Amino acid sequence: MTVSVVLYTSDLRVHDHPPLRAAAAGAREVVPVFVRDPAVDRAGFAAPNRLAFLADCLADLDRGLAHCGGRLVLREGDTAAEVLALVRRTGADEVHMAAGVTAFARAREARLRAALEGDGRRLSVHDGVVTVVPPGDVLPQGSDHFAVFTPYHRRWSAEPVRAPLPAPKALRVPSDVRSAPLPRRSAVGDVSPALAVGGESEGRRRLASWLAAHVDAYEERHDDLAGDVTSRLSPYLHFGAVSATEAVHRARQRGGPGADAFVRQLCWRDFHHQVLAARPEASSEDYRPRQDRWRRGADAEADLAAWRAGLTGYPVVDAAMRQLAHEGWMHNRGRLITASFLTKTLRVDWREGARHFLGLLVDGDVANNQLNWQWAAGTGTDTRPNRVLNPVRQGRRYDPDGAYVRRWVPELAGLDGPAVHEPWRLVGLDRASLDYPDPLVDLSDALARFREDRG
Ligand code: FAD
Repeated sequence: MTVSVVLYTSDLRVHDHPPLRAAAAGAREVVPVFVRDPAVDRAGFAAPNRLAFLADCLADLDRGLAHCGGRLVLREGDTAAEVLALVRRTGADEVHMAAGVTAFARAREARLRAALEGDGRRLSVHDGVVTVVPPGDVLPQGSDHFAVFTPYHRRWSAEPVRAPLPAPKALRVPSDVRSAPLPRRSAVGDVSPALAVGGESEGRRRLASWLAAHVDAYEERHDDLAGDVTSRLSPYLHFGAVSATEAVHRARQRGGPGADAFVRQLCWRDFHHQVLAARPEASSEDYRPRQDRWRRGADAEADLAAWRAGLTGYPVVDAAMRQLAHEGWMHNRGRLITASFLTKTLRVDWREGARHFLGLLVDGDVANNQLNWQWAAGTGTDTRPNRVLNPVRQGRRYDPDGAYVRRWVPELAGLDGPAVHEPWRLVGLDRASLDYPDPLVDLSDALARFREDRG
């Protein structure tokens, strides 16, 4: 009797899952396994919000597998050692897994391959599970990756996208394989109070309802901070609870300018993955060194602390930072404003901002977080690295009525309309009665040093 193992990593779903389909088609019995590897935590994964979301995803994956007749096996320890022990125990001759993108994932894959092949077994690595187009599949002439988004998008859009695969109809897991208890979300401390519920069921429900009700408004309203009409699929995509391929496929089936704009954002996700795959060091080093001299020392530390706490005195910046703390998620426009503010206005190193985001973001991942931070800081792939966002103008434009600021900064909830973006303009008692800081810094220095993006 043949047995195959499916090693789950960043692909926690049963639908549109090529490794699971291949294993189910090629073996009589399948062992779906997830390994809680302390090395993953040490590499920076272990933020409470992501651990809590992971617990939801694993519980839901177990239910999804049970629906097909299987179950999830959880192991704890070194991935290569645990999988090797499992294949020996079950007599499996093949392990299927999704291709990884980060340096960490690729090193893990190499170690696993060496361990399995040394034991006379096979590792089958499947492309197009984490991203829609595998890194390296489209390349500009003479380079190992695209460094500019627009030509990448053109080529990416012309690539064929496979039809999403259904979940396997039937799975048989050997009955004598034991699993460690699945982690429970309630056991994770320090989780953001309004963290989303994880899992494939919730992700699929969200994808379907968002495409049905909101995608048409996406192109026009995706930057509307208070409207909050983006898909909020990023954590499900990050954990692979929703397949990016399926999201693209279904959005294209629906069609229209909103769907096109949404697919374009999914292309940004692939874009950053292919940059990181070719330049793994960009997770911590400037992708394009610009000899930036970041501010250091006690003053810079104090500014960084105010930024983290949402106490910069710039309402839209503070609102976004407080949304991050409360939800473990931040609107994309908020991410752009806060990142530009930290790096271009406060002149604090992008790595500090990226670290704080990774400590809280439920969707926090190395490719999207680090490379978006580099984009905002002007050390990344932005073709206009000198742009700076003016938080007052951004607030007035993307939160015109001030509702987003009033939602997240209760100290300003009594101010009507767009006046909420400039509380320092209040005079006398009105100003004195606000328990809200004065602006941390004058914007004029940053606006003189860089070019303001009025878009
Ligand atoms: P939607 O607007 O509905 O977009 C759909 C999907 O497209 C998203 O879920 C996401 O997977 C992808 N996407 C959208 N914008 C981008 C982008 N600029 N780059 C890459 N993918 C994108 N995204 C993450 O997934 N993880 C991160 O750690 C992360 N860190 C960021 C840090 C900074 C400083 C900035 C400026 C952006 C960051 N982003 C990150 C990108 C983006 O802000 C989020 O993907 C988006 O806000 C998630 O909300 P949504 O799912 O409603 O997005």
